[in-house]
Amino acid sequence: MKVDLHTHSTASDGVLSADELIQIATDKPLDYFSITDHDTITGYLSVREKAKAIGMNLIAGLELSTLWNGIGVHIVGPNFEPTHSAMAHLLQHQTDARIARTDTILQKLAKIGFELSLSELQSSVGKGVIGRPHIAQLMVEKGYVKGTNQAFKKYLGNGKIGDVKNGWISLSDGVKAIRESGGVAVIAHPNHYNVTRTKLLRLVDEFIGAGGQGIEVISGKQHRDVTDKIATIATDKGLYASIGSDFHRPLSFGVGVGELPPLPDSVPPIWELFH
Ligand code: AMP
Ligand code: MN
Ligand code: MN
Ligand code: MN
Repeated sequence: MKVDLHTHSTASDGVLSADELIQIATDKPLDYFSITDHDTITGYLSVREKAKAIGMNLIAGLELSTLWNGIGVHIVGPNFEPTHSAMAHLLQHQTDARIARTDTILQKLAKIGFELSLSELQSSVGKGVIGRPHIAQLMVEKGYVKGTNQAFKKYLGNGKIGDVKNGWISLSDGVKAIRESGGVAVIAHPNHYNVTRTKLLRLVDEFIGAGGQGIEVISGKQHRDVTDKIATIATDKGLYASIGSDFHRPLSFGVGVGELPPLPDSVPPIWELFH
């Protein structure tokens, strides 16, 4: 099975359009593919009919920004019903939160001397939702930082002044909304949260308590030890295993669409839940 259930388009912070992603996934070809933009499904919706027409298994997707104990936790939510009211409410909440958050981040950055306006940001983003990568890019363009890495390291990354996450839906409410709309909830890139194993297991327990069923056992380019560690957690907790490149752009540090090793045989694959 060739599967990629975590990719980004220009509807959020990816550089390829949903159409271009579909083309790549078709060329591979992939057995299951999902476009999982941050808190929006417009990229997915724009190619849904086309994917159906060419007989591709395009799974409805998004990557939800949630908050758990002060930590920003991402939940991938494949296979929901896009027209379900629970999904509409969820997306509206996140859209409002993202707009308010952008304002807050710009105000915080203004206080330390960076002049960045919403209109400048909008013109560089185009039609997608605004995220920290766009703010980082604008800071580069204005000569405030040398590169986007520096922008995250000093101003936008974990715990920095521009890391604003208090408006996101709670982890458990986010999971419940995905489940209610028929989707499967999956913990994205579990090795990226910078928490102890004990804390990660507490997160997993709360996630399961809210109805969560899956975890990304393989996320992008990762060491085999990490895969084994997450597979063990999946087995111990009875979670299904998901796999995704977290593709944002070609030729960067990450991996290409669908260019992933197979999931370990020890864990049940998440697509057993897709019907
Ligand atoms: P947001 O959705 O606005 O919270 O932005 C989160 C996105 O920023 C992630 O999905 C990554 O694409 C990107 N990102 C997060 N941390 C970093 C980092 N340290 N360096 C570069 N990009 C990052
Ligand atoms: Mn991203
Ligand atoms: Mn993420
Ligand atoms: Mn992602």
